Amino acid sequence: MARQAGRHFLQIPGPSAVPDRILRAISAQTIDHRGPAFAEVGRQALSGMQSVFKTKNPVIIYPASGTGAWEAALVNTMSEGDRVLMYETGHFATMWMKMARKLGLEPEFIEGDWRGGADPERIEARLSADREHAIKAVCVVHNETSTGSVSPIAEVRRAIDAAGHPALLMVDTISGLASIDFRFDEWGVDVAVSGSQKGLMLPPGLSFNAVSETALEASRSARLRRSYWDWEDMLGPNANGYFPYTPATNLLYGLVEAVAMLHEEGLDHVFARHARHGAATRAAVRAWGLEVLCRRQGQESGVLTAAVMPDGHSADAFRATVLRHFDVSLGNGLSKVADRVFRIGHLGDFNDAMLLGTLSAIEMGLGKAGVPHRGGGVDAAMAALDGRQEAPAVS
Ligand code: PLP
Repeated sequence: MARQAGRHFLQIPGPSAVPDRILRAISAQTIDHRGPAFAEVGRQALSGMQSVFKTKNPVIIYPASGTGAWEAALVNTMSEGDRVLMYETGHFATMWMKMARKLGLEPEFIEGDWRGGADPERIEARLSADREHAIKAVCVVHNETSTGSVSPIAEVRRAIDAAGHPALLMVDTISGLASIDFRFDEWGVDVAVSGSQKGLMLPPGLSFNAVSETALEASRSARLRRSYWDWEDMLGPNANGYFPYTPATNLLYGLVEAVAMLHEEGLDHVFARHARHGAATRAAVRAWGLEVLCRRQGQESGVLTAAVMPDGHSADAFRATVLRHFDVSLGNGLSKVADRVFRIGHLGDFNDAMLLGTLSAIEMGLGKAGVPHRGGGVDAAMAALDGRQEAPAVS
């Protein structure tokens, strides 16, 4: 293939593009992870992640993808045959549910239509009916990366409390953390799961559990087998900035840099920036005459937008056109919505000009791929970014 000039646009909803500052931090020489210089790196990474999760509780860092931290959340707290209440927000919620089943748990899946986040009322109703407290955990995906819908985590906690139920609250915020507000302590989350390759702007390879006192207590009597994922083994050496086995040293350098960058910008500014880019992207999608997959108002994601293709048109063929002509990678539709939607990632180290470049490539790509649409999507996005009223689309 001939060389393509200019920067590739990695507009999938994670991994997100890694900023140069983080790449430089990662490129430092690897040091002895049991030597004296490492302890400061370990301590900064661990306390930095507490600030991002907004918790005073321990955060565990695994050299693993997000799937590993999903498994860690379950095997540290649950016993064979335990019932867990999970909510079908999309592909990732479904994968977590299947993992729970494989591990010998009994997941109960509240069916969803993949077009919005979890409904706290349905969770409360199910928990209220569970008088014997057979359900040991409620598991919810904060930002469902397959659909672009956000679940209201604080309201899910209120639903659990309103039902007077002792179930643990476990939240997958793999693609939510550091892009959408997340408050581990204030929202009463017991185990949060996250990963490095989304809002944290790092390459893939690190994942996290934030762990409440209640979850730690549960881990002492939980009987699922665990070894690599055992929180207890981590917490001892972590207290001094060390790890029980070889950590991903260079990714930890990057993590320390990433946390510094997030605080330099200000977490609230980071969240507002993502929300603004989400709104501008939805304005573009609607102006093109396409449907946004998330249709529950107020639950649309600032991390990504999934756009529904017109009937009879392949989302994957369209994405291939955009990649070929513009060197822009868009996210594919997963499982139930494969080839039916394309996903625009607008997360991580991202600004207005990058968003407008992405949307321009999509608008031109729709034309090149012969997808029926209206023009004016980029104009609508610019109006939204400018805070101007979106001009109503003319059909
Ligand atoms: N959960 C969510 C919400 C995700 O977006 C992803 C990955 O994109 C995962 C879980 C799985 O994480 P990983 O692919 O890092 O194992």
